[in-house]
Amino acid sequence: MNAKKANLSGELKKYFGFSTFKGQQEQIIENLLGGKDIFVLMPTGGGKSLCYQLPALISEGTAIVVSPLIALMKNQVDAVNGLSSDDGVAHVLNSSLNKTQTKQVFDDIKGGKTKLLYVAPESLIKDDYLDFLKEVKISFVAIDEAHCISEWGHDFRPEYRNLKSIIDKIAEVPVIALTATATPKVQDDIQKTLGMSDALVFKESFNRPNLYYEVRPKVNVDKEIVRFINQHKGKSGIVYCLSRRKVEEFAQLLQVNGINALPYHAGLDQKIRVANQDKFLMEEVDVIVATIAFGMGIDKPDVRFVIHYDFPKSLESYYQETGRAGRDGGEGHCLAFYDPKDIEKLEKFLAQKPVSEREIGLQLLNEVVGYAETSMSRRQYILYYFGENFDPVKGEGADMCDNSSNPPKLKDATADLKKV
Ligand code: ADP
Ligand code: MG
Repeated sequence: MNAKKANLSGELKKYFGFSTFKGQQEQIIENLLGGKDIFVLMPTGGGKSLCYQLPALISEGTAIVVSPLIALMKNQVDAVNGLSSDDGVAHVLNSSLNKTQTKQVFDDIKGGKTKLLYVAPESLIKDDYLDFLKEVKISFVAIDEAHCISEWGHDFRPEYRNLKSIIDKIAEVPVIALTATATPKVQDDIQKTLGMSDALVFKESFNRPNLYYEVRPKVNVDKEIVRFINQHKGKSGIVYCLSRRKVEEFAQLLQVNGINALPYHAGLDQKIRVANQDKFLMEEVDVIVATIAFGMGIDKPDVRFVIHYDFPKSLESYYQETGRAGRDGGEGHCLAFYDPKDIEKLEKFLAQKPVSEREIGLQLLNEVVGYAETSMSRRQYILYYFGENFDPVKGEGADMCDNSSNPPKLKDATADLKKV
């Protein structure tokens, strides 16, 4: 056991250059190598990738990594290939590859070179791929962003639902599922759908003690935001709006007010979108005004504020979006503007949806309203939503929200809102 431990640390150092494991990474890896099914719930930035990358690198055969986004896969493959001097340690398999490229991937797997094979779930059902994967040695299967399986998650992808039967066809190997979504409903859904009820569960706290949570009534919101940003001059921040139109309008309004801001949404020309994102990452621009299209896989450590011009459709989304602030452990101010009329609009929108989707949507909105209107510790409210108990007096970051630092004022505001 001790020898193995020393060994794992050695491999960590050798491949990643890190001297210690983060959180429960070591136990997770030991158990995966020991053949157990594993479920990892860890906030964004917790170090989930290493939980399957390291064991894959030191195992015989190829690990299949299921991931939802081609862009994320490409980043990871480049990162893994950079860890080793050999070519082809990691590959992506998808239909964008031509015949020669696909053959190269297959040859590298057969030759034992490839330790990590990244695939999107919709690629996995291709017969050519399935037939090939059945014939080669698979070490284990990792399902990243596993919340995509659940309609209760913030990023449901129907292709994820059939993963269990596909994996069963390929090989009888351990499965590790990982997500940064930890609401009990999503967790339950993932375990049931993947047939992982007996899996070992590793859950880390979702508390982000350095983030300050604040909700203001949505009155004079444009002015309020301009003032807030001017008070944080030169710092990096994100403003989230629900619609593309609002994103464009508000980015302009900020520019007119002398704030260095750019828009980002999926409707923008690809070139402009990437350029705007890069300018934000390279600090040529301070503020990015964006729809939820912005953020997945963005790792800018020193985002100092996340403002919600509009409240998101679930508390889960709120947590993920605010989670982009203060990733370096420094200050992170999360300010949301709440107007019950916005919620009514979202409810009307949901009324046109199929029943099951509508019910889930309404339930999620209810929880958002509960959060916006609560007079209790916002951190306690969010963590409760993730199935975690938090001591609002002694817990880490207990005083870091409007209700804790300034309760009477906010209680009045909340009461006012209820009258509206
Ligand atoms: P997640 O997928 O949980 O959001 P990542 O796997 O992207 O997180 O890792 C977040 C960051 O933490 C990365 O920059 C990664 O290099 C770093 N990291 C992971 N494990 C360790 C470790 N043991 N020591 C130091 N840094 C680590
Ligand atoms: Mg990740």
